[in-house]
Amino acid sequence: MTLGNEQEIAVAAVREASELCQRVQLQLSDAALQKKDRSPVTVADFGSQALICSRLRSSFPDDPIIAEENADVLRDAENETITNRVVREVGHFRGSATDAEILDWIDLGGEKSYSDRFWTLDPIDGTKGFLRGDQYAVALALIENGHVVFAAVGCPNLVLAQSHGEAGVIMSAVGGEGTRIQRLSDMSDMGMAQVSTHSDPSMIRLCESVEAMHTSHSGAGRIASILGITSDPVRLDSQAKYAVVASGNADIYLRLPSDRRYVENIWDHAGGMLLVEEAGGIVTDIAGRSLDFSQGYQLSRNRGVIVSNGQLHDRLLSAIKQAGID
Ligand code: AMP
Ligand code: MG
Repeated sequence: MTLGNEQEIAVAAVREASELCQRVQLQLSDAALQKKDRSPVTVADFGSQALICSRLRSSFPDDPIIAEENADVLRDAENETITNRVVREVGHFRGSATDAEILDWIDLGGEKSYSDRFWTLDPIDGTKGFLRGDQYAVALALIENGHVVFAAVGCPNLVLAQSHGEAGVIMSAVGGEGTRIQRLSDMSDMGMAQVSTHSDPSMIRLCESVEAMHTSHSGAGRIASILGITSDPVRLDSQAKYAVVASGNADIYLRLPSDRRYVENIWDHAGGMLLVEEAGGIVTDIAGRSLDFSQGYQLSRNRGVIVSNGQLHDRLLSAIKQAGID
């Protein structure tokens, strides 16, 4: 894969946005709103999207961006307090930006349709985790001709075995070139990520969402018992789950549909998927199909997501069938 300066620019953008999120997470009171679908959104979701979209726009002016948020609620006078705080937090990084410019940066992420080259962004994946003070991720990916070719995922609260106790990593991957881990605080190199080689059930660590609405915990329990996995699942929010599998800190991530009508959004998976694949793992849906990023903002040709270190993938897919999960 030949990229130009995309990696350098996107990693710097994700790092800056992760710093904004860390600042907001220290002072969460009055930082959240409820969206129409009743899910929460915070000052940091908007601020992160503004910073990343503005950087992408100045470096790659022709690239569409499919991102999770838009500035509609911030243009509503009733939300003035939140809007002012977004402007203040973004202003910390972009002193000269006006209120209108910042809202327009957020709206640069409003693309919905597929094209031959586009970025997809979740400015804060795992907003519920962010609000609890737990895991969240800033996830950015570049998609060319339907393939994820670059990913940068910041996990400000994540501690890996490689971390020596210090929280915060950025993982980035270029198609065909592997997955790199860097410490968020100083961007020092933590080596290349590699999935585990575990296949013995007694060694397997399985992770899943904290939120029972986002994945079937009982389904994962049935699969664990079919495979003879004995340890309890590790529950964490966001694409940090892909990061832990990519870095060999867990072996499986299951996202089993808990709602028949739900269709996964591309920004929840594109970045994480490439981190795992480039570290030697496998990502499919529950039927064993590759994730299809050619359908616009949703994975409308897929159901659920199954992530493994590769060794375990076939056994997982058989167990899913045996458990009657569809
Ligand atoms: P996680 O932190 O892994 O639980 O995933 C958070 C993401 O779950 C959010 O960004 C939402 O886009 C997504 N989500 C919302 N509702 C559902 C659902 N019913 N099933 C699966 N994912 C969902
Ligand atoms: Mg998300």
